[in-house]
Amino acid sequence: MSAAASARQILTRLHEVMAGRTHAQHKLDRVVEIIAESLTSEVCSIYLLREGALELYATRGLNPEAVHVTRLAVGEGLTGTIANNIETLNLAEAKAHPDFAYRPETGEEKFHSFAGVPIVYRERAVGVLCVQHVEPRRYEDVEIEALQTTAMVLSELIAHKELVDGEEAIDLDIAHIENDVLEGLTLVKGLAAGQAVFHQPRIEIDQVVAEDIEAERQRVYRAFDKMRDQIDAMAKEPEFGKGGEHVEVLETYKMFAYDEGWSRRINEAIDSGLTAEAAIERVQQRTRMRMREIDDPLLADRMHDLEDLSNRLLRIVSGQLGTAATQGLRRDTILFARNLGPAELLEYDRRRLKGVVLEEGSLTAHVVIVARAMGVPVLGRVTGIRTRVAEGDEVILDADKGTVTLRPNQQVLDAFETRFARTREKQAAYAELRDVEPFTRDGTRITVMMNAGLRDDISALAMSGADGVGLFRTEFQFLVSSTLPQRDRQMRLYRDVLDAAGDKPVVFRTVDIGGDKAVPYLDNPVAERDENPAMGWRALRLSLEREGLLKAQARALLEAAAGRTLSVMFPMVSEPWEFDAGRQVFEDQLAFLRERRKLLPETIEYGCMLEVPALAEVLDVLAPKLSFISVGTNDLTQFLFAADRANPKLAERYDWLSPAILRFLARVSQTLVGYNVRLGVCGEMGGRRLEALALLGIGYRRLSITPAAVGPIKELVRKVDLVELTEQMSRWLAAPPPDMRSALQDWAGKHDIDLD
Ligand code: PEP
Ligand code: MG
Repeated sequence: MSAAASARQILTRLHEVMAGRTHAQHKLDRVVEIIAESLTSEVCSIYLLREGALELYATRGLNPEAVHVTRLAVGEGLTGTIANNIETLNLAEAKAHPDFAYRPETGEEKFHSFAGVPIVYRERAVGVLCVQHVEPRRYEDVEIEALQTTAMVLSELIAHKELVDGEEAIDLDIAHIENDVLEGLTLVKGLAAGQAVFHQPRIEIDQVVAEDIEAERQRVYRAFDKMRDQIDAMAKEPEFGKGGEHVEVLETYKMFAYDEGWSRRINEAIDSGLTAEAAIERVQQRTRMRMREIDDPLLADRMHDLEDLSNRLLRIVSGQLGTAATQGLRRDTILFARNLGPAELLEYDRRRLKGVVLEEGSLTAHVVIVARAMGVPVLGRVTGIRTRVAEGDEVILDADKGTVTLRPNQQVLDAFETRFARTREKQAAYAELRDVEPFTRDGTRITVMMNAGLRDDISALAMSGADGVGLFRTEFQFLVSSTLPQRDRQMRLYRDVLDAAGDKPVVFRTVDIGGDKAVPYLDNPVAERDENPAMGWRALRLSLEREGLLKAQARALLEAAAGRTLSVMFPMVSEPWEFDAGRQVFEDQLAFLRERRKLLPETIEYGCMLEVPALAEVLDVLAPKLSFISVGTNDLTQFLFAADRANPKLAERYDWLSPAILRFLARVSQTLVGYNVRLGVCGEMGGRRLEALALLGIGYRRLSITPAAVGPIKELVRKVDLVELTEQMSRWLAAPPPDMRSALQDWAGKHDIDLD
């Protein structure tokens, strides 16, 4: 008999049992009988996890007295090993296995062969189903398959309390280990507490056994078609057209989406009597089990992708679409996700979103920049999310220390409160600096501005006491919008921002879409072919060539700044002519408005970002045309090191304090001496204290940083003796110490500069 037929036979009989109106224990007793008979095994037993141990709940063939008496710890004996490792065991001679543990009350000594499979619920073993036989023989693959399918059905029946009495507390949910700590990489510092919410909610499978197999098959076919369409469409999105890892992910997605083996296995599972949802889950469970046996990180990554795809298929087939954002947050939330796009993050209610925990993530990925702008702490590169976190868990996120504590007890909560209070105190101290101008000890005024991107961000200007907005990322409005923002809408935003900023300056950067800032409504025919959109058709390149895009933005900005100063900054300028072309678009629009006798800006200042290394070689050509230049260290460093800023594997590889970067930046600042150009930094680097210290030491006097960093950086500025620091930095740049970071740390320590 085939595996499917064998499983189907068992499921049909189980179905009959479930339909009966009998006591739960009686049903379980029937279940083990049916399985034992179908697999012609002398023994069939079910162990379930209760109060942390695996308890024998039903048996056919072992001593009935042992039921509810025999209990094994997870990890103890063969049964405990199966649950612990979530693996299948198939042994001709059970006693020969090193983990065998003899339990005299069961009377199992006469049985030689043993096969057991875990009963898995939400990726954790909540029980074990096993069969035993007098004859020493290994069970055949079809029998194991049938057992696994049955175990899956059992898990759903148990979850729906159809096999155990309501009062019997099977440990279905994640073991309530208090204070379970996961570690990760700090991407945005901060402390937060809230309830765990998964960005992609887990799909609940209501029905496991199929009523009409053909109908289930058709549902899966349709879902596969839809999923393949989605993947093909994804291939056209710039985000996925990106080089390196993203291409690999997409290739893997495609490979799995079109993989005959995968769809065949799902079909076989349907043949065995499962619904479409249960069949997808069943195949996924089997893959997970196999993966646990293979210790290959590369393969593990690919399996992660299959897991994503499998979830996608499950969502399509069950019609449970949408993310947690679409369902709305009900309480203070710590969001868990594999990764997020910046637009996805912005869909969340800012009042309730307190923190984000990602399996991936890197310091300069845009989602992280957006979170930083929102003041939401983020921890990245955290493993174990899916198996250890349950939706609704209480969570404390300590992104300062790089930990997430799940289900904290009172003591931990109290400790957290104390730290929280200390942070509040510190923030209050920074707030006192709000109106204090940041002069260094030797009297140099440093300009500390903030980065922004949304209307609401401007309130931080007054609160932080920043000198102005040094980078307003206009593309955020494009990212949060489902359609291309029209000129009028843009104009209203810019005007509101200028109104809110009052007499403080605001530097508007023209749209920088592309790279990891993909917008769905901008069909990007060139990016389809881009191997690496971060270096592709993005930012000024795109807005210059995309008919009307920059023109509309220029008009919106000019009209919004009527009667005041307008500062415009172009992103990703790689050669001086691109700056000229961008400026010309503004000049043309200005002439147009002048002809119509519209009120014009009083002054217009033009500047550009320095984020493409080539531009540094032609600063002498460019500088005379500029009012200001702002170094975008996020992009600049990714290009200098040829290291994708969004790639989590490279997140910790290169240091902003490397001699290569610091020498480059120092050279830029030296080159600009003598030109009437304001030089600053607006990448994330400037908001980190040690990095800011280095920048001050190599000639940078203007920083535009995340609002939360304004207070700490002002405090730092006031402790610095610039002459001394500059001398020290030039010595280090001439002959770099083996570890620039620790050298600077020591220096800061000796000068009473707090780096926490
Ligand atoms: C940068 O690249 O450093 C920068 C400030 O721009 P963005 O992060 O928006 O690319
Ligand atoms: Mg940039």
